[in-house]
Amino acid sequence: MLRFYNTLTGKVEEFRPLEAGRVRMYTCGPTVYDFAHIGNFRTFVFQDILRRLLKARGYQLLQVMNITDVDDRTIENSLRAGVTLQEYTEKYVRAFLQDMELLSLEKPEKIVRATEHIEDMVALIQRLLEKGVAYQAPEGPGGSYYFRIQKFPPYGRLSKIDLSGIRAGARVDVQEYEKSDPRDFALWKAPKPGEPSWETPLGPGRPGWHIECSAMSMKYLGESFDIHTGGIDLTFPHHENEIAQSEAATGKPFVRTWIHSEHLLVEGERMAKSKGNFYTLRDLLAQGHKPSAIRYLLASVPHGKQLNFTFDGLHQAAQSVERLRNFRLRLQTEKFPPGTSDKLAARIARAVQEFDQALDDDLNTAEALAALFNLVRDANTAMDRAEFPRGNVGPTGDALARFDRIFAVIAEDDHAKLAALKDKLEVPVPDSGGAAALSEEEVERRLAERRQARARRDFARADQIRQELLERGIIVEDTKNGVRWKRK
Ligand code: AMP
Ligand code: ZN
Repeated sequence: MLRFYNTLTGKVEEFRPLEAGRVRMYTCGPTVYDFAHIGNFRTFVFQDILRRLLKARGYQLLQVMNITDVDDRTIENSLRAGVTLQEYTEKYVRAFLQDMELLSLEKPEKIVRATEHIEDMVALIQRLLEKGVAYQAPEGPGGSYYFRIQKFPPYGRLSKIDLSGIRAGARVDVQEYEKSDPRDFALWKAPKPGEPSWETPLGPGRPGWHIECSAMSMKYLGESFDIHTGGIDLTFPHHENEIAQSEAATGKPFVRTWIHSEHLLVEGERMAKSKGNFYTLRDLLAQGHKPSAIRYLLASVPHGKQLNFTFDGLHQAAQSVERLRNFRLRLQTEKFPPGTSDKLAARIARAVQEFDQALDDDLNTAEALAALFNLVRDANTAMDRAEFPRGNVGPTGDALARFDRIFAVIAEDDHAKLAALKDKLEVPVPDSGGAAALSEEEVERRLAERRQARARRDFARADQIRQELLERGIIVEDTKNGVRWKRK
C-alpha cells in the first residue's frame, strides 16, 4: 500500500485512487522564460520517481504536465528580446524537453501548452462569472477579471495561510488597483500596449497564470482527480487559487492528494533565478558532470526534506553511481563458483523488500538507496571471498533492474545521451565525460581484444590497448577475479 504526505490534510495517508487501478495526476510544469535550473529539476525528478513508482505498483497512469508559455515573465522577456512570444518560448520548450531526456525523466502521457487552451480558460472564467464568484473591473470593454475570494470560504485550506494580513503575495500583481479586495486574484488580464493578447468573448487580453492549470487539468483529468504535484512554493498562491477556481466552478472536490517537494537550497537559500544562485543543467554538464550523477543527487534526498546543493555532494553522487555500475559489471563479467546459496537468496529478497517498503512509505528514497547499497556491500564481500555462487547472480541482477526502473541511473547511457544532443545543446562537452568517450560496449570490445592478446602472450599489444583506454579516460585494473575497469 502506497502512503503519501498530503499537504491538504497535513497527514501521511494511504493512497487510494478514485477509480480502482487507475491514477490521474497533474504536474505543474515549467514556465518557459529561460532554461530551467536544477532546483526546478529537483521537483521534476521527484515527480518522475513518483510516476515510475505508481507504474511499478501496477497503476495505469494518466499524467498531464503543462507548459506555461504565457505569463508575466515570458511576456516580459520576449518583449525585451524583440521577438514574438511564441518564437521566444519555443527555444525554452525545446531545451526543457532535451533536459528531460538527459535526466531520464519519463514523458508524461500528455504535455500541454497554455497558449493552446485559451478557449478552455475563457469557458472556465465564464462559469465563474455565472456563479457570481468572478467579476470584471473596471466593468466594460478592456477590463480585467478577478476571482472574489470572499465568495469561497474554504480559501486557505491547502496552505493554511491566514489571509487577514495579506495585501500582496508572491506573483500577485501589485498594479491591480481596481480589485475590490486586495486578496482577489486575476483570472484574465486586460491587454497592455505591446503585449500579446487574444480576442475572446470576455474581451481582449490574456489568462492569469492560475486559471491555466485549473482549465488544463480538468479538461484532461476530469473535475476531480487523484494527485496534483509541484514545488512547495506553489502551495500559495498558485495551488490555493487553482482549488478556489476549480471547486467554485464545479462544486466538487478538485484534487484528493496534493504532494509537494521541498526546495533545493544553495548555502541555506532557495535556488532561484531571482536570487542569481542557480545552475542550469547545461552549466553542470559544461563542467563535466554527468546527467546520471545530477539525477542521483536530486533523487537521493526524500522530497519532503530540503536538499542543500554542493559540488562535494555532486561528486559523492557520481561515486555512488559508479559503484552501482561497477557492481553490475562485476556481476555480468566475473566467474562465479557453481551452486546457489540460500542465505544469499534470503539476503537479496530482504533488500528488495526493504527497498519497496521505503519507497511505498512516502517515497523515502534515502532508505531505499540504503537498502540497495547494503546489498551491494554484502554481495561484494561474498564475491571477494568466493562465496557468491552462480545461482545467485540472476536474482541479484533482477534486484538491480527493479531498483533502476525507479532511479534510472545504472544504465551506462550518459555518453550516448550527450552525444545525441551535443550539437543541439550548444554546450561544450568535455572529452572524458562526453561524446568522445567510449561507450560501455566499446570498452568491453577492446578488453576482449586485450584478453586475446594476452592469451597469445602478445603483452606489448595488451599494454598498448590498456594505454589507449587510459587516454580515453578508462582505467583498467587486473585483479585476481579478472579485469575490472572504471572511468577516470
Ligand atoms: P517554474 O518554472 O518557475 O514555474 O517552476 C517549475 C517548478 O520548479 C515548480 O514546481 C517550482 O515549485 C519548482 N521549483 C522552483 N524553485 C525550486 C527549488 N529551488 N527547489 C525545488 N523546486 C523548485
Ligand atoms: Zn500550475
